Amino acid sequence: MTMGGLHLLSGLIIASFIRKDKYKKAKWGVVWGSIIPDIDILASIIIYLFTGDLNSATFVHRSVTHGFFAMGLVVLIGFTISRTRTDFRWAFLFSLAFAFGILTHTFYDLLDWEVAIFAPFTYTRYSLTGFDYSMLFGETSFKVWNALDGMSDIIFYLTLWFWATHKANNSIETNFAKKLLIISFISIAYFGVMIVLAFTDISVEMHLILVYAYWGLIHLPLSTVIVQIKMRETIQDFSFLNIRG
Ligand SMILES: [Zn+2]
Repeated sequence: MTMGGLHLLSGLIIASFIRKDKYKKAKWGVVWGSIIPDIDILASIIIYLFTGDLNSATFVHRSVTHGFFAMGLVVLIGFTISRTRTDFRWAFLFSLAFAFGILTHTFYDLLDWEVAIFAPFTYTRYSLTGFDYSMLFGETSFKVWNALDGMSDIIFYLTLWFWATHKANNSIETNFAKKLLIISFISIAYFGVMIVLAFTDISVEMHLILVYAYWGLIHLPLSTVIVQIKMRETIQDFSFLNIRG
């Protein structure tokens, strides 16, 4: 379960079970933590731009940000911040939830190929299944998988758009949600073309570049940072359990 959208969906589902208002910062933490490990793809993209070598670019992915070191560091930072000022007390709870979000991300990634869970101490990679599902059916399915992965973030954008415009009453976030809706439509079109291209004889590497050029520029900053900050009230209000109520 590599896909970013599924990591985010999992975060939103887990967050929905946090019902007490005083714990709502934990909802934000779980959702944000569920996607933050993949920010290391930014490093992969930068390495690729400088070296043109896909192998060294993918080496950093699924290492430090996906491991126990990152989880511990997050909690340590959260605990320290929570001690500095009384109005930052929530930071500890937030960091625990954030680290838990990372743990769920790493768990799903361990089901789908391997993760260097002890990086930066050792870069030995572990897997719970030994399967790389994206590779199971050959090159074409790998290309389709990547295109779907790129598109999958729209699950998150559309969910937040729905919640902001139909449930939560926060006009600033509603305005941002409308932009997410437009981005979602553009993304569906772009990655739709990528799915079609997957069935042509375009090389895996060129297809990957086309997918990550758009995803890295638009979705990576949105999913891992911008939406998390801009839509935080909506995220803290969100619940699948109240979707009808
Ligand atoms: Zn990941």
